[in-house]
Amino acid sequence: MNPISPSRFVQVALPLPLPVLFDYRPPAGTGEIPCGTRVLAPFGKRKLVGVVVGNMAESSLPQSRIVTIERVLDGCEPLLNEELLGLLRWCWRYYKHAPGEVVFNALPPVLRKASGVLPPEPVQFRLTEAGRGALAQPPGRARLAHQLLALLAEAPATAETLRAWKPSWRKVLATAMDSGWVEEQAEPAAILSAFDGLELTPDQQRVVAAVTADFNRFRCHLLDGITGSGKTEIYLHLIEQVIRGGRQVLVLVPEIGLTPQLLRRFSKRLGIEPSLYHSGMAEGARAASWAAARSGRAKLILGTRSALFLPLQAPGLIILDESHDSSFNQQDGFRFSARDVAVKRAADAGIPILLGTATPSLETVHNARQGRYHWNRLRERPTGAGSPAWFVQDMRTLPAKGGLVEPVMEHIGRTLSRGEQVLVFLNRRGYAPVLLCHECGWHAACHRCDANLTWHRAMKTLDCHHCGHRQRVPDTCPECLADALHGAGEGTQQLEQVLTDRFPGTDMYRFDRDQVTRKGAFEEMYDQVRTGGSCILVGTQMLAKGHHFPTVTLVVIVNLDQALYSADFRAMERMGQLIIQVAGRAGREDRPGEVILQTHHPDHPLLEELLSSGYEGFARLLLEERRVANLPPFSFQAALRAEAGSRDAVMAFLNDASDCYSSEVTRLYGPFPALMEKRGGRVRWYMLLQGDGRSAVQATLDTWLPAIRRLSSSRQVRWAIDVDPQEF
Ligand code: ADP
Ligand code: ZN
Ligand code: ZN
Repeated sequence: MNPISPSRFVQVALPLPLPVLFDYRPPAGTGEIPCGTRVLAPFGKRKLVGVVVGNMAESSLPQSRIVTIERVLDGCEPLLNEELLGLLRWCWRYYKHAPGEVVFNALPPVLRKASGVLPPEPVQFRLTEAGRGALAQPPGRARLAHQLLALLAEAPATAETLRAWKPSWRKVLATAMDSGWVEEQAEPAAILSAFDGLELTPDQQRVVAAVTADFNRFRCHLLDGITGSGKTEIYLHLIEQVIRGGRQVLVLVPEIGLTPQLLRRFSKRLGIEPSLYHSGMAEGARAASWAAARSGRAKLILGTRSALFLPLQAPGLIILDESHDSSFNQQDGFRFSARDVAVKRAADAGIPILLGTATPSLETVHNARQGRYHWNRLRERPTGAGSPAWFVQDMRTLPAKGGLVEPVMEHIGRTLSRGEQVLVFLNRRGYAPVLLCHECGWHAACHRCDANLTWHRAMKTLDCHHCGHRQRVPDTCPECLADALHGAGEGTQQLEQVLTDRFPGTDMYRFDRDQVTRKGAFEEMYDQVRTGGSCILVGTQMLAKGHHFPTVTLVVIVNLDQALYSADFRAMERMGQLIIQVAGRAGREDRPGEVILQTHHPDHPLLEELLSSGYEGFARLLLEERRVANLPPFSFQAALRAEAGSRDAVMAFLNDASDCYSSEVTRLYGPFPALMEKRGGRVRWYMLLQGDGRSAVQATLDTWLPAIRRLSSSRQVRWAIDVDPQEF
């Protein structure tokens, strides 16, 4: 039957960096192609995979220019459902990014190719009644088939199991199926076999009850709990309930590679293996997880920000663990905040979302204070472990070795002599952040970036941590030829060496990106520390990301003073989060922890507030500063970023962009150089658009962007719009 007004055109999202959708005609004889369906579309001389995102009766293009779709893929079955498509549409409108790139971000790499197919639901093979009968008979000549029947009589098996049984399994199976002895059966969805949760404290119960009350409606819950306050335990209880209710849970974490113990805890307590989804997975496994999320077979999905765009058959709850973490911001290509998009997704799906963290971002605190988020606080540890004792170590006038001053060295020595573990945090890898000549003052700088090269002494290299440039360490000063090159400042390698010299025979573990490169390396070192005795851990941010080192009793933060003079208005917020996060690694169980913070600014009011009244008071002060300065979250921003090989091209473009700006509801500032003006050989500047509400910023962008695209100077630079920019 024909619909009354047949849609004669489809709108297709193609994976191109263009701000448009493309109109096509469906192939002859095809009715309406449902939104979310993949198609193969001619594009110039190429054929591209695209996704149908709209059907319409009219096209604004002349009829003669509209091409016909080559082929509808996946048997005309839409792969993306309306809930997800709605989210993607919102994303490309809000973030002003090319629709095709936004949509393709939601497909696993396999499905971005025309040859890729949705992995079929894994099946199991089981014995039929006839098969049981055959098994009871002597094998005769069908010896292998008989073995297969015996195997399946024990339990149904997947293709995987059968492959492990015999290389010729396919042939044997085919014979058995032809004879009606074996049949296929879809593998059942994972069902919770056992739930092994702890008995919750009254505080935890209150949170579980609050979220449970919202199971069938949208509400954003901030779970603001100090490290070790039992947030993960709350997740487990909620996940159990949602899965029992027949729905799916999506848990987003900053980095999968760094969460082995979380994974183990999930599968051990819940009795099901979570389905994983992240960009580090092999393509096949990733597509299989995608398919399992889509079919509903995956009940619990654990992934990084890319998992946010998984199709879900029956979403019931979204959890963002460590929701303050900057890994939730995608910073290039399609820039978005996974936290904000997750909240939007939960709102559209009518389900609750939980933002768990010990150090909520100021945006989140603000939302909670305004009552937009339900604020759940946990300020006690169920294990009874006390909060760490803080010591501020004034570094002024004291000589330092490897960045550590003598009183702190002694403190470390006392802790080790009690047989305990020490964690030393330094936010810089390498041996020294600068290599300089004591004769003439030359220092090694990256020729492609406004940055010094980091000296990696063991490797004898100078590395740029921003563009990846690497060169050999010169023997003498390239400027004055003097043999007077020395490192200045310290990185984790130097710190490790200084500590090894000072405490010989003590086990040392270094956690940074140079050391922890191999998959599983983190886990190995982590296990050694957990089960080992007295030792020192030296490391970067990697140590601040939600790992529990229950046996560490002393944490030393070498130096975070840089944040105090940063031009980035978010630097203080990040510093406070880092201090609290690193400190949270200590004294998790029976022994109280100690934290030493080395600083040149022991009287800084924000530091004092952080240490005396904790993160909440610190956040309140910072928010007050933001309010006075009219900075986010009290205003809304978008950055127009531009980069090119020459500053002239960048300036010409930004000046033109500024000339075609006119708005009553927003203000435009700049151009400003990026905090690192030159990076990877490119000069980077930006302009900042600011308004009092999101809608004002959006309205301005909607008129300003088309004008910017028409500028001829826009073709001389690489430019992008960054809505709610996080870094400058
Ligand atoms: P967070 O995620 O907030 O850091 P966890 O959920 O990991 O906290 O809990 C910290 C420690 O406290 C873990 O060892 C956990 O087993 C324990 N714990 C959590 N909840 C309870 C509880 N209700 N009773 C006893 N121990 C608990
Ligand atoms: Zn020199
Ligand atoms: Zn560089």
